[in-house]
Amino acid sequence: MTAFYPQDPREQTEPFTAAAATDNATRPSSRQGAPGVAAEQARPEAGGHFADDADEQPRLEARRDLAAAHRLAVWHDFSEGIYNHFTLAVPGTNDRFLLPPFGLHWSEIQASQLMTIGFDGKLLAGEGIIQRSAYCIHAPIHAAHAKHQAVFHTHMPYAGALTRLESQHLLALGQTEALLLDQIAYDDAYDGLARDPAEGERLATILGEKTILFMGNHGVLVTGRSAAEAYDRLYTLERAARVQLFALWTGQRLRGLSPAQVDKVQDQIHNTPLHNSPGEQYKPGYQLHFEALRRLLDRREPDYRD
Ligand SMILES: [Zn+2]
Repeated sequence: MTAFYPQDPREQTEPFTAAAATDNATRPSSRQGAPGVAAEQARPEAGGHFADDADEQPRLEARRDLAAAHRLAVWHDFSEGIYNHFTLAVPGTNDRFLLPPFGLHWSEIQASQLMTIGFDGKLLAGEGIIQRSAYCIHAPIHAAHAKHQAVFHTHMPYAGALTRLESQHLLALGQTEALLLDQIAYDDAYDGLARDPAEGERLATILGEKTILFMGNHGVLVTGRSAAEAYDRLYTLERAARVQLFALWTGQRLRGLSPAQVDKVQDQIHNTPLHNSPGEQYKPGYQLHFEALRRLLDRREPDYRD
């Protein structure tokens, strides 16, 4: 995965452009495809909006989910403007993911603007700049395990504050933390900016099959089997971090949970239903949460769907 990167020293300081990743450095001039780009780019666009198989409803919904996640991250103060990265694997594939062009503010991202990027860093559909660290962090994690369909990396303030502490661990202080603790991995060896896929491979190894990575001196990364699961997890993590910091700031002695109490909560979350919807109608909480958030977006910022 490291081989395709050009040795041009400019790549050390400049944003990594999609054009640099194509075999012949030919950048597509339109979404209808161009010489040297993958065959799928030349497909007619369904409804004139999308460049990659968007006639398939799951792929269209994946685009809308990922655009929605960016908009919601602005609402919830998880975003850094144009920086940080959320990516989502293209449904039905195991070698490509969706990424917004670098430079768009997260509050303006639309489904049709998302680029399709191969795990090898090549632009497969769409137009725009590929932020170097977005590829270097996310591609190896997507590739490492099928459960990492959505990979959301932020510098969000409360979880980010914990990563600045000598011990960045989320403490077993309350119910919300108990829901998350068995999913968290910690990287305690900050190694500079992610400018090479080797950094993403290192992070993927530390993350393993867990779904939350505390990146010491840096930020957090959360994964999920869908955008809905990853977003709900990200939201829950930031809320837990915020409450934990509020408790720490009081300066009073903390009321910790015992390992048995944590174990009981984790057993309950894995083995008891959240609600009483029967059989096929049952949706997990993360799905209901994300659907509710998308309904709010549908009313307030419906252009995310376009
Ligand atoms: Zn970062």
